[in-house]
Amino acid sequence: MMVIDAHMHYGTDRTVAAHTCVPYLVSGEPESVIRLLDEQGASHGVLFPHDRRKTPPWDADYHEANAAVGEATRRYPDRITGVARIDPTFGAQHTCELIDRYVGEWNCRGLKLVAGYDFYRPKDMTVMGPLLDQAEQYDLTVLFHSGDAPRDLPYLQAQAAKAYPQVRFVLAHIGMHAYVWEAILACQEYPNIFVDMAQAYPFDIMTFIRNVSADRVQYGSDVPYQSPRVEQEKLRVIGLSEEELEKVFWRNAARIWGVDRTA
Ligand SMILES: [Zn+2]
Repeated sequence: MMVIDAHMHYGTDRTVAAHTCVPYLVSGEPESVIRLLDEQGASHGVLFPHDRRKTPPWDADYHEANAAVGEATRRYPDRITGVARIDPTFGAQHTCELIDRYVGEWNCRGLKLVAGYDFYRPKDMTVMGPLLDQAEQYDLTVLFHSGDAPRDLPYLQAQAAKAYPQVRFVLAHIGMHAYVWEAILACQEYPNIFVDMAQAYPFDIMTFIRNVSADRVQYGSDVPYQSPRVEQEKLRVIGLSEEELEKVFWRNAARIWGVDRTA
């Protein structure tokens, strides 16, 4: 079975790194990404920075962390698809300059957003509009951390998808258990919304697939925090057909992220 891991953080804060499931995955060491892909039998990974500003606070706009992702994608373009962590509250000009640069310099394919950490509402188009205009222009996938109140909620995020029907959106974690039904409703209403199942309970993954479709969910491990072996096993114990497994393990991610399956 081919595998694309669609939710990979490039290491984490050094205060917690040693206590994660994959302590050897470290930002600035592209070989550690390849080792992780090989160990979980994955041909490809979608890679983005740690979600929060690292402690002590630095790299406020995540540019250094994004540059490290860019370096990894340039080193291994056939294995790694790079996504930039963006805080749109820096304003239209700074946000657009960063995205232009990432697309041009390292073929950035998506934008990771965590509104709760950066303090805005995903439906606020004064903040989100310039970023979403660029996502549409460059055909970038927009990935939301999803499932934490009050800002990272699926139905708030769905309002961005409603406003930009040509842009693909991913709600990570299927709304993180408490909001799984909000993620299901969002996907039922808007065809440009997808989810990844990183951290989701097996029953929640089943519920999503039976109420939406196996075409809209992709495998993601959420390394280094979670274990790829455990995340993969969740998909193998819920009675999916071979065809559904292929969709969830790689076909959907290849489509959503524009991964070249022949590479
Ligand atoms: Zn994550």
